[in-house]
Amino acid sequence: MDHAPETPPLALPQSRPWGRVFVRRVGLGIAGFALLVLLDWQPSLGLLRGLLPGMVLKPLAALGFLLAGLVLANEARRVPWPAVSVLLSVAIAVAGAASLHADLAGVALASDRWFPDPEAAITSGIAGRMSPLTACGLLLLGLLGALRLDGACLRLRHGLALLVLGIAMFTLAAYGQQVGDAAFLPVPLLAAGLFLAAALAWLAVLPARGLLHVVHSTGIGGLVSRRLLLPALLLPGLLGVLARLAGSHAGWSAITVASIQALATGALLAWMIWWVATLLERLQRQRDEVRVLHDESHTDALTGLPNRRAFDEAIAVLGQGRRGHDHGGSLLLLDLDRFKDYNDRFGHQAGDAVLRQVGALLRHAVRPSDLPARYGGEEFAVLLPEAGIEEAMQVAERIVRAFRAVAWPGRAVTISVGAAALAGSESADALVGRADAALYAAKAAGRDRVVQAAAPAQPAPA
Ligand code: GH3
Ligand code: MG
Ligand code: MG
Repeated sequence: MDHAPETPPLALPQSRPWGRVFVRRVGLGIAGFALLVLLDWQPSLGLLRGLLPGMVLKPLAALGFLLAGLVLANEARRVPWPAVSVLLSVAIAVAGAASLHADLAGVALASDRWFPDPEAAITSGIAGRMSPLTACGLLLLGLLGALRLDGACLRLRHGLALLVLGIAMFTLAAYGQQVGDAAFLPVPLLAAGLFLAAALAWLAVLPARGLLHVVHSTGIGGLVSRRLLLPALLLPGLLGVLARLAGSHAGWSAITVASIQALATGALLAWMIWWVATLLERLQRQRDEVRVLHDESHTDALTGLPNRRAFDEAIAVLGQGRRGHDHGGSLLLLDLDRFKDYNDRFGHQAGDAVLRQVGALLRHAVRPSDLPARYGGEEFAVLLPEAGIEEAMQVAERIVRAFRAVAWPGRAVTISVGAAALAGSESADALVGRADAALYAAKAAGRDRVVQAAAPAQPAPA
């Protein structure tokens, strides 16, 4: 039997996994924003296009995001309508694929002329056409919503969501490198933001299996990944933007900006490692403190043996583990003979010294898998989880002989023992009762001996 203390659950800082509310908000936010962009494409408006030239998504892309937001909102329902998700997702995928095909084949697309584009597209040669990478992202989002089978499909969907996330990260990083010159953005900045939000919402709403399992776990892995994954993804890009902005204001050289960017990213990484290390240290300290408290509360201060609480826990485990089996598991109850007399003659301190010596003797008399314990006062118990009655009797006789062989201070100290083996479906309480009766029989028979317990009178039905 294993007597190692069970480690109790550790107190972690609370952090709840993302829920459906988050996904619904993100989905409706994406849909609402895409609708605004679509309206903004009316020739009489153009507010966003004026504010962020070259960074606003094209009409077909805005329509794709409108549908993608609605798919997410549907997925966040307690019971989503699969047909709605599949239909809308197929439409999104078709929009992305058509735009890509038009790019590759060099043909026009009806949606290119949905709205006149006075600025002319900066990210693609044709007015009103989304960039190829935006089209890829929409195609991926469409597939993500259309593939609905579990198993390998789930891994594929996780992979698709991460690819969409990658497109957003790539764009944000490119923006960080080119603040003030948006001509080479692979995806309009607003579209990158929507891709980022949609990818995170999909990762949150997909079943927590496969590579995202740890993010949803309630343990330390879940806490660390929920706190650090997003900053790790987003902050390097953001730091790049800040370094560029600061550099363009202060007139720093490109080398200075790049160095500050590298320094800031390194510092961010170091901070994350420090945070994880501090958390692990705290958990380790808690674990150590709990172990010390556990050991103290399960050890008898005078003899250093496991105490009554440790014994009770161990015998309860033995009773549960062996129930229904007819092999192994024995108990010795031991009581010092005429120990009151010893105290009266030599004093309590001498008595305590004897008890300490008894602790050492019992520890050495049994195997590591056995559990010697101070049962209370001058009574002891030895739990032999693997032993039958013959082996238990041998151990008991060996202990009685060892007592006789010791040169005790003052006068000889002897011990009486009752031995019992767990029978059939007998309870732990019944086993203790039979060993106790055997111990009394040993006392009655003249002490300094072992008595084997009688078999249980009426074995309980299995
Ligand atoms: P018997 O052979 O029938 O067991 O006689 P006994 O005197 O050992 O039994 P009894 O139960 O009358 O006395 C037990 C004594 O054990 C009484 C008490 O002084 C002593 N004792 C119990 N705990 C301690 C302890 O922690 N230290 C010391 N020094 N003595 C203890
Ligand atoms: Mg006694
Ligand atoms: Mg006693």
